[in-house]
Amino acid sequence: MSRHTRAPRAIALLLAPLVLLAAACGKDGSPPAKGPAPDQLPHYAVDRNFRLPGSPTWTRAKKRGHFVVGAKEDQPYLGEKDPATGRYSGFDIEIAKMLSASLGFPGDSVRFRTIASANRETALQNGQIDYYVGTYTINANRKKLVGFAGPYYMAGQSLLVRKDTDDIHGPEDLAGKRVCSAAGSTPYQRIKDDYPKAVLVAYDTYSVCVDNLLTYQVDAVTTDDAILIGYAAKAPDELKVVGKPFSKEPYGIGVPRTDNALRFALDNALAAREKNGDWKRAYDATLGLSGVPAPEPPPIDRYPAS
Ligand code: GLU
Repeated sequence: MSRHTRAPRAIALLLAPLVLLAAACGKDGSPPAKGPAPDQLPHYAVDRNFRLPGSPTWTRAKKRGHFVVGAKEDQPYLGEKDPATGRYSGFDIEIAKMLSASLGFPGDSVRFRTIASANRETALQNGQIDYYVGTYTINANRKKLVGFAGPYYMAGQSLLVRKDTDDIHGPEDLAGKRVCSAAGSTPYQRIKDDYPKAVLVAYDTYSVCVDNLLTYQVDAVTTDDAILIGYAAKAPDELKVVGKPFSKEPYGIGVPRTDNALRFALDNALAAREKNGDWKRAYDATLGLSGVPAPEPPPIDRYPAS
């Protein structure tokens, strides 16, 4: 590391815990550090008569007595795990809970397991998880490996920089800049393919990228706007999201590739939860806390079994 980067890094390291502390104290207008309190979240009616014998995944989960759902644990408002209680919270977590309830599994029979972006397909293929809800973009390449119910939300790739950065406004400004993203993610791949002059750095998670941004190891973090807005809201004096979203990232529910019965059941459940207002209630209690009002959910892409 060169000498002149040392001082800002040391300052950032000193400041980072203070930033987190300020957020944890919930000062006026700042988001709660660990998502909404359980009593502020919607309750989802459980369909106790639901049966899905055509789905091997559902049948196995029913015998086991709970669903195992893959998720993220370090994405504010979306999927966050409280290290003290082990409780997961966020919009993705609520989506998993409401859909599980429609498939006959009450909230306490959904167990979450953290799976990083690069490991999602393998986790679904080897049965480590029953399904996955964690900012998971539906695309043609991934559809060769897994199935997708949804989408349930539309995000777009964006950029997070330090407040003192004034020369990065969009992806075309990334030439020669150190840009961090998660391995195996669509934002990483897009920078690699379309902006080859950027100096790409990959980690397993975006929170490690954000630590690297705060300590001047990288110049920008890139992933979906929904994710970056959460990090910026937790360190509003240090970080900002810049420019306009430059991709479409439709979030799907990942399922094992051949379990079409599960995929269609999740599509039906999602449609019903959008219609009865649960989707919006969940959004308002989680992602909506970032200050962005609830959008219309995108149309569900019920593609045929192949
Ligand atoms: N939605 C993008 C993806 O699925 C980025 C977020 C993530 O890595 O989960 O790759």
